[in-house]
Amino acid sequence: MKIRGAVLERIGAPAPFAESAPLTVCDLELREPGPGELLVRIEAAGLCHSDLSVVDGNRVRPVPMLLGHEAAGRVLAAGPGDGDIAVGQRVVMTFLPRCGECAGCATDGRTPCVPGSVANNAGELLNGGRRLSRAGAEVHHHLGVSAFATHAVVDRRSVVPVDDDVPPEVAAVLGCAVLTGGGALLNSARPGTGDRIMVVGLGGVGMAAVLVALSLAAEGHEVVAVDTVPEKLALARELGVHAAYTPAEVAELDVQAEVVVEAAGNVRAFETAVAATAPGGTTVTVGLPAPDARAAVSPLALVAQGRSIVGSYLGSAVPSRDIPEYVRMWRAGRLPVERLVSAHIGLDEINRAMDELAAGHALRQVIVFD
Ligand SMILES: [Zn+2]
Ligand SMILES: [Zn+2]
Repeated sequence: MKIRGAVLERIGAPAPFAESAPLTVCDLELREPGPGELLVRIEAAGLCHSDLSVVDGNRVRPVPMLLGHEAAGRVLAAGPGDGDIAVGQRVVMTFLPRCGECAGCATDGRTPCVPGSVANNAGELLNGGRRLSRAGAEVHHHLGVSAFATHAVVDRRSVVPVDDDVPPEVAAVLGCAVLTGGGALLNSARPGTGDRIMVVGLGGVGMAAVLVALSLAAEGHEVVAVDTVPEKLALARELGVHAAYTPAEVAELDVQAEVVVEAAGNVRAFETAVAATAPGGTTVTVGLPAPDARAAVSPLALVAQGRSIVGSYLGSAVPSRDIPEYVRMWRAGRLPVERLVSAHIGLDEINRAMDELAAGHALRQVIVFD
């Protein structure tokens, strides 16, 4: 079928992207879903830093690629075979499919699915190959999702069903920002009762970690937010954090926490997070810095103070287990993820929206399709 989508043509185009236009909104051909695959009409798709990382070349991926990995939509058709998802079902896309059978999947989210990672790196779906083309030439999938488009064909193992009371933009944000930021806390850090929790870097993922940390209020956690942008600190205060600081203030006031989540994806933020981790505490890093980035950390301080540094990809999540839990928290009013949505935009505004993301102003800009 004919679809419309935003294709990244080349990597490393200069900013501003509104002028260099690395993404083209164009017509594409989408093949029928194969066995175990679903055709989904996209309802909402969020712009995430990992999309920008492909545009600016921090994460090298094959092009042309139809970007977008944080999304929700409705199933329009299922491929041949017995599927468990009905036509009309709303689904959350997740950006790392889980085959359920490999050594990675056996670790319950601690390490990524092996064939899922291979397919993602090749720009293919989990079963292999691509369903997207343009003028006869194949276009790569982004993380098995490719949601900056009116429709997508995805593997069943790339989605989690949600009920209709979960609005599309809430469902979309659950799939990347909340799964990653929340998982960094609940799966990787597992704070003990009364632990102070600090989040460094208040983009979509970091702010989602803040919301999840605040949802644990009954356990007596103090929540501290850290960012360089005053508006983001103001929003964190509005959401209810106990304190909000710039990195300079954290150093100056010697603020520490038992659990520190780094969600900025740069070396300075990582070093701030490690330095602010209290003796016996844990730094969890979920940001994606450039592949050649190196940080200065004192091994002695880790040993002498019994501190840990833990890496967490996709919040070490098992989406089919974790998303229903976040939905329950959202329904109970404990996880107002709507607050992460800072703007609604149209598909045609995508290059300008990438500039907003690069400038660090945007939390979650969500493309809405009607
Ligand atoms: Zn993302
Ligand atoms: Zn697997």
